[in-house]
Amino acid sequence: MNAAGQRLLLATGNPHKVDEVQAILRHLGYEVVGRDPGVEETGPTFEANALLKARALAAAAGELAIADDSGIEIDALEGGPGVHSARWADEGDWIPRVLRELAGVPESARGCRYVCAAAAAWPGPSGRQSGLHVPHAREFVVRGVVEGRVAEMPRGTGGFGYDPIMIPTEGDGRTFAEMSESEKHVLSHRGRAFRQLAPHLVD
Ligand code: IMP
Repeated sequence: MNAAGQRLLLATGNPHKVDEVQAILRHLGYEVVGRDPGVEETGPTFEANALLKARALAAAAGELAIADDSGIEIDALEGGPGVHSARWADEGDWIPRVLRELAGVPESARGCRYVCAAAAAWPGPSGRQSGLHVPHAREFVVRGVVEGRVAEMPRGTGGFGYDPIMIPTEGDGRTFAEMSESEKHVLSHRGRAFRQLAPHLVD
């Protein structure tokens, strides 16, 4: 099925995520529209936070909403910053802080992964809700992961966030920031998560 021109609300204030999800779901024909869900990401897992955001926006808008919660897990930081990837440092210090904390760590111990939980939530039976979870509302959450290693130095200008220091294991040695958008989506956590979610979005 093709949802030609139908809008699909994505619970985010991050324009990079809107662009990426639009590109990944292009074949479905949706126009992906970003909207801040206005909720704190208080969940303990990527899945919990993705569901929180999707439910809140579906309830407020009275229509299907999707969301992602994502981050980088770094082995040498015991899996951190993980779900706290957006908040553990000021945005301009995300990469410098990782490189500082991994100074002197050899390549063999620089393993990491990007994780993305993608959720879809439909509003409850009475349409607009107060923002609270309605137990019988329809919802899905799935996870996409891409393994990699942390580069010694940032490389490339594409993508966003940690992309200049994330070298995917299945790639050719380039960081995600050195790839075209479409190359990134083939391998990325977000590509993997939203491709799994896509069949659930169409009836
Ligand atoms: P949230 O999903 O909005 O809570 O934030 C996820 C954070 O993880 C982003 O702000 C980035 O710091 C990082 N992140 C998630 N996905 C990516 C990606 O595709 N590239 C680079 N950084 C990412």
